[in-house]
Amino acid sequence: MLDSVKSLVLNSSYEPLQFCSAKRAIIMVITGRAEFIESDGYVVRSPTTTFNLPAVIRVLNIVKRARRKGISFSKKNILCRDNFTCQYCGTGGKFLTVDHILPKSRGGKSNWTNVVVACKPCNLKKGDQTPSEKGMELTKKPSKPEFYWPFFQIPAGPSSHLVIWKKYLPKSIFAGASNE
Ligand SMILES: [Zn+2]
Repeated sequence: MLDSVKSLVLNSSYEPLQFCSAKRAIIMVITGRAEFIESDGYVVRSPTTTFNLPAVIRVLNIVKRARRKGISFSKKNILCRDNFTCQYCGTGGKFLTVDHILPKSRGGKSNWTNVVVACKPCNLKKGDQTPSEKGMELTKKPSKPEFYWPFFQIPAGPSSHLVIWKKYLPKSIFAGASNE
């Protein structure tokens, strides 16, 4: 159980860092590397002691993000960055595609500044043209996100954990996660 249940780890600045196993979270708290922030009441018993299963912990020494490699470019991460909404008309929903602003056929690159989320109708309408040629406007200028999304694939866990995690994580992470 302790290996499958996850805990959310916050930086000492309270920014979300990553998920780790609840077992590791307990060890970090016991060894003084992190403090216990929140639990949903689950209790773990060992032969000698009991622990509140931490849903959220916070590291005590700030973890610098600078050393990390940048966020990887992928459709999934583009969807997260664009909050699962078409960047031309603002539609959300299930039938989203990614659009090359300068079309691939015309040398457009697959990168953070040339790829955005588009709904199928907008993608179809735009075709092989640029937004300005087609009189379409982007809702915002695309850029590489600062936030390190790949750590935030929300792990499976008790729904009570999910409720707690939502308080600490950006909303857009949950946008595509479920239909609640
Ligand atoms: Zn659209």
